[in-house]
Amino acid sequence: MDILGVRVDDVTHDEAVTRCVALVEDPQPRYVVTPNPEFVVLARRDGRFRSILNASDLSTPDGGGLLLAARLWGTPLREQVRGTDLAYLLVEEAVRRGWRLFLLGAAPGVAEEAARRLQQRYPGLEIAGTFAGRAGPEGDAETREAVRRAGRCDVLFVAYGVKRQEEWIARNVPQLDVGLAMGVGGVLDFMSGRVRRAPYVVRRLGIDWLFRLLMQPSRIKRQGSTIPVFLFLALREALRRRTGRSPA
Ligand code: UDP
Repeated sequence: MDILGVRVDDVTHDEAVTRCVALVEDPQPRYVVTPNPEFVVLARRDGRFRSILNASDLSTPDGGGLLLAARLWGTPLREQVRGTDLAYLLVEEAVRRGWRLFLLGAAPGVAEEAARRLQQRYPGLEIAGTFAGRAGPEGDAETREAVRRAGRCDVLFVAYGVKRQEEWIARNVPQLDVGLAMGVGGVLDFMSGRVRRAPYVVRRLGIDWLFRLLMQPSRIKRQGSTIPVFLFLALREALRRRTGRSPA
């Protein structure tokens, strides 16, 4: 489905995992993206970012705003497949299948702590390596070296935040022995226990974004500059569809 220029796949959690398994097994390095309204607004302003998202091997609807837009347009998506949930499902799959997992990004020490906690929670999980590195191109050579030293990485989580992580993947993953890469945003912060994830009920109510805002108020500037734009565009598109005019 096209959401204001960004391709999103209408998958359930099970379908997303099945697709990821096939992608890991494919000999080419592949990548998954998990768009939310912020991704969509940034992609409208940056054609290169939009191309990276649209060339992905799987694109799951992470943000509730995307499901709201799809419903407004009369073409609802089946499930909200959040990046954080998909990341944990892939960790479980890694344990089952003996995949080797590499954790890249976040603040120094966070990926190591996330690895330690994951191994406690999922005995038998194989961590190929961890590295904070730098998100920009100046850090690429050093990070590629660190990932290569770890040997084959079936799954690579990249935590550099929206856009930078997808750009990192596009620049580097084709040159690495990686099965499947995924930009995971703040997931390593959750996995390390440094940031609390919204409780299950809050997620079910669809207000996990509000919980995250309360936990990390500094995010308000970013979200305040993208979410209203997304809602405006979604409503305008709904109106266009009703009046039968062609989309922007
Ligand atoms: N991050 C990083 N380097 C950067 C920018 C971000 O390591 O240059 C990390 C940050 O520490 C956090 C993660 O990227 O662990 C996700 O950041 P954010 O909360 O902005 O993610 P998003 O909102 O995109 O999920």
